[in-house]
Amino acid sequence: MDVKALESLCVALNVKHNLNYAEKLTAVMNRLRYLNLLDVCSRCSGTGSYSYNSINGTVCFQCKGFKFTFPKTINQEYVNTASELTNRGRLIPYLEEVKKRSTINKARKSIDNLIWNSNISQEYVAIINQKANVDSELYAYRQKLTDISKPFYDKQHEYDVIESRYKLGKASKEELDDAANDLYDLYVSVRDEIKAVCNNYEKEKSL
Ligand SMILES: [Zn+2]
Repeated sequence: MDVKALESLCVALNVKHNLNYAEKLTAVMNRLRYLNLLDVCSRCSGTGSYSYNSINGTVCFQCKGFKFTFPKTINQEYVNTASELTNRGRLIPYLEEVKKRSTINKARKSIDNLIWNSNISQEYVAIINQKANVDSELYAYRQKLTDISKPFYDKQHEYDVIESRYKLGKASKEELDDAANDLYDLYVSVRDEIKAVCNNYEKEKSL
């Protein structure tokens, strides 16, 4: 897709300006798909896969597995339609969903980072790498972090299951929203517990 056409679609669909070409293209395609303005891929009939070849495997090379493609001509009328639908708020449910998913992904990364960047884990890993013995106190602290985070990781797994069922049309939007809210609430409490344990450890070490 040429840059000028992509830029005008970005404006029409309110896609953020500070993205690179690939990110803009992905955002534009997702939004157009949600607005039913893309064509079903003519090569794979919207399945995303095609007969095996050694470069792409079974991924359809026309739509790259996206299942939809741009219409042949993207003229002003097409851009105007996208713009009108956007201005009428037709993208709002989609954007809310994207935002929720990004919040959840951030929560996952945040728990991982808190655990692995903590002095408890860093010291623990350093000692293991030296093949030395971890003293019982550090071991207990490391175990505490594992125990505290387990319910969050379990809940995350539950959420993933519901999300994939939702994508198959087997779970409702309400179920997905409930799961997302539960996961986020758990994230907040687990995050605070991890921080408290890390603070305790620092305090004890400095005594
Ligand atoms: Zn295809």
